Amino acid sequence: MTEETPASALEKMLTDNQSFADELAPGQLDSIQHEQNPYITVLTCCDSRVRIRAFLADPHPTDNVFVIRNIGNQLAVTSGSVDYGVRHLKTPLLLILGHTRCGAIKAASTDYRKESLHLVQELNGLHIPVRDIDPKGDPDREWLKAVERNVHYQMDLAAQRYSADITAGTLAIIGCVYDFANLYHKGVGRTILINVNGESDPTNFTQSDLIRNLPKGLVDAVLA
Ligand SMILES: [Zn+2]
Repeated sequence: MTEETPASALEKMLTDNQSFADELAPGQLDSIQHEQNPYITVLTCCDSRVRIRAFLADPHPTDNVFVIRNIGNQLAVTSGSVDYGVRHLKTPLLLILGHTRCGAIKAASTDYRKESLHLVQELNGLHIPVRDIDPKGDPDREWLKAVERNVHYQMDLAAQRYSADITAGTLAIIGCVYDFANLYHKGVGRTILINVNGESDPTNFTQSDLIRNLPKGLVDAVLA
């Protein structure tokens, strides 16, 4: 829990923005004045530990990523925004990005009926991924498995929604888990690839045209 007060939080926000604006080179934002050209639509969780910059080389990304966030990275909650990225901005890639230690997944597996109506409604959307949690299993392992099941579930929904674009080859959708806890032992900060176009079996999706022509080291580094 933050120790900031509303006033100190506001001061921090304004100070940080002042630094950002001061550090921009002259003309750095000229090229984005009239349109956006993202190469990827990202649907991820609101969790502040999930850093969009984790997969951006540009320290001041301005025109690369069309981002949609909600608790538990749910397609149904904000499908219109995802449609905008995929169908209007025509990003060739849609990433559905869960993350380790997702509080939304944990909350959805508890009794949350006392929360506000709208929070309850959003957590209800995670019912399917968390219903198979084994109460007798290792809690951390069950938590991570539920995070993965949620990514697969959202990917199934997206694969249905955008099946025509995927079949036409104009869109690929990938499901990943951002691992800031190194639970996959691939290094802190990796995005672990667990689903490609709705296919969840790595032996199958690594043979897909999308993956098999990538540099082997790049792919090996992100497989669980
Ligand atoms: Zn989360």
